[in-house]
Parts: sequence; C-alpha cells; structure tokens
Amino acid sequence: MVRTAIYPGSFDPATNGHFDIIKRSAKIFDHLIVAVGANPVKKYFFSLEERVAMLNEMVSDYPNIEVSHFDGLLVEYAARMNAVTIIRGLRAVSDFEYELELALMNRHLKRDVDTIFMMTDERYSFIRSSLVREVASLGGDISDKVPAVVERYLKKKFGSNSRTGPHRPPS
Ligand code: ADP
Repeated sequence: MVRTAIYPGSFDPATNGHFDIIKRSAKIFDHLIVAVGANPVKKYFFSLEERVAMLNEMVSDYPNIEVSHFDGLLVEYAARMNAVTIIRGLRAVSDFEYELELALMNRHLKRDVDTIFMMTDERYSFIRSSLVREVASLGGDISDKVPAVVERYLKKKFGSNSRTGPHRPPS
C-alpha cells in the first residue's frame, strides 16, 4: 500500500525550514503531497502560481514529492488524496497552541485523518516566511534562509536593493 502524507501550508514563500520538513517527510512516506493553501480570505504576498512554481523547482529532484494546491477544508482534500496523515512543522512553543487547535479541529472534522508534527532543525528554528519577506524587502541577505529559487523570486519582486523595490510586503 502506498502511504501518502500531505504537508499543507501557505509557503509564502517556502523557506529552508519548510524544505527541511519536506525532505525529511519524503523519507518516511512513499508519497508526499506539498499542498499550497489558496484560502480566499487570506492575503498572500506571492500568487498561488508563484508559490507552486517555486516549490516545483525546489522538489524537482525528488520523485516521490508532488506539489499541489487546495482550497476549502484540508481534511476533505486529504481524504480525497487518500492521505494517511497531515504533516505540520513545529518551531518554538509559540507554534504549539495554534497547531494543537488546528490538529484537534481537523481530527474533530475527520477522525481518521491524523496530524503528525515534525520538529524543526535547530538551524531553521528562527526562520519564518514573513520575516524573510521583510528582510528581503529591506535589502538584507536571506541567501542562507531560503532555497536559491525563492531568493530569485524575492529579488525579482523587490529589486536587488530593495527599500526602493517595486512592492512592499503586506503587513
Ligand atoms: P500556514 O499559514 O499554514 O501556517 P506556513 O507556510 O507558515 O503555513 O507553515 C506551514 C507549516 O510549516 C506550519 O506547520 C509551520 O509551523 C511550519 N514551518 C514554518 N516554518 C518552519 C520552520 N522554519 N521550520 C519548521 N517548520 C516550519
């Protein structure tokens, strides 16, 4: 039986922290779906197409990883994909409360879709997408925080020296 897991997120943009969780999960499960959220009430900095394209480039060498997107209820999507589990990453205690709430709600909605948490690698514990966007918008070096493709997309948005770049990140 093929064991499929889903790693959902905004990935706005994906960071080295996300990528680490992706690679580690893909070693445990036969098939990993990285599912990019397209929540109509959420404001994203990168479009769905951009977030999917960056992830596709990141995982192109990993045959058991697929990038997809979803809207609506994650548990319904997981059931449709025959996923045995949802993967989420945990950095600090501050992540815990929100993630617990989400996992309990998802389990309430669909009892047989469980959530598995993976601890961040210490190298990535302070990396979050919004901080990466902010630093990039101010012209800071984020090359060791994100995969090369993401750095390229950020530079394209902000210009190489960026206070004056064309776009500001959403607050
Ligand atoms: P969401 O909007 O669904 O929280 P994110 O893209 O912010 O989407 O995060 C997706 C998942 O990845 C979450 O479980 C988050 O805790 C986890 N994550 C984010 N950054 C890191 C990191 N640096 N290390 C490990 N996990 C992370």
